[in-house]
Amino acid sequence: LVVLSNVNKHFGALHVLQDIDLTIARGEVVVVIGPSGSGKSTLCRAINRLEPIDSGSISLDGKPLPAEGKELARLRADVGMVFQSFNLFAHKTVLENVTLGQIKVRKKDKRAADEFARTLLDRVGVANQADKYPAQLSGGQQQRVAIARALAMEPKVMLFDEPTSALDPEMINEVLEVMQQLARDGMTMVVVTHEMGFARSAANRVVFMADGQIVEEATPEQFFTNPRSDRAKDFLSKIL
Ligand code: ATP
Ligand code: MG
Repeated sequence: LVVLSNVNKHFGALHVLQDIDLTIARGEVVVVIGPSGSGKSTLCRAINRLEPIDSGSISLDGKPLPAEGKELARLRADVGMVFQSFNLFAHKTVLENVTLGQIKVRKKDKRAADEFARTLLDRVGVANQADKYPAQLSGGQQQRVAIARALAMEPKVMLFDEPTSALDPEMINEVLEVMQQLARDGMTMVVVTHEMGFARSAANRVVFMADGQIVEEATPEQFFTNPRSDRAKDFLSKIL
C-alpha cells in the first residue's frame, strides 16, 4: 500500500534518511523504533510529504506522491497523521474538530459529517465530550479526539508519531487501546513509539532505525528475543 524506494533526505550536511526502502502492506501494522535523532519522525513526515525528500520515491496505493498542488492535498487526505502534541483546533469544539475536514476536504454535508463524527467519537470513547473545547479535555481524551479526526478522513493509512509520549502515564493505555482496536479492525498503520508492550502485541513488523538507516526489520518476536544487529541489542538493553 505504501512503498518507499531508495528515499534520501538531508538537512544541510545531515543525511537523515539514507536509502530507505520500506513496503507497508494493506492491513499491516509497522512499529518504528530507534534512538532519538535516528530519523523516525522525518520518515513519517516524508510519507505524507510534510517533509520534501531529496531523491527516491514514495507511492501510496500504486500512485506516486506528487510534490505539490491539488493532487498532493488529495493524497495527503488519504494519510492520517497523529502527532505527539495533539494539534486540535483550540477554538473549535470536539465535534467541529472531527467534522471540519470531512466538510472541507471530503465535501460531505454537515449532517453526514456530524453523524460520522459521532460514530467515531463513540468508537474512541469520548462521545460525551462532543460539545467541549479541547482545553476542557484530558490529554488522553484529546489524543483520542485527534485519532477520531484523522479517521474522519477515511484514510488508507494512519501514521502515529509517538502518540503517547506527551501523556501522563495513566492516560497512555486508553490511547494504546484505541490503537490496538484500530489495528484489529485492519487499519494499515505506521507507529513510532517507545511503548514496547504495544509493539509486541500489535505490530506485524518492527523496523529499527539508527542514524537515518533501517538497520533491522523483523517480527516483534524475533526482534525482542533475538535482535541481530549490535545497534539493536544496545538500544534494547537500554530501554527494556
Ligand atoms: P526522536 O526520537 O527524538 O523523536 P527522531 O528519530 O524522530 O527522534 P527526527 O526528528 O526524524 O528523529 O530527526 C532526525 C535528525 O534530523 C535529528 O538529528 C534532527 O535534529 C534533524 N532534524 C529534524 N528536523 C530538522 C529540521 N527541520 N531541520 C534541521 N534538522 C532537522
Ligand atoms: Mg521523533
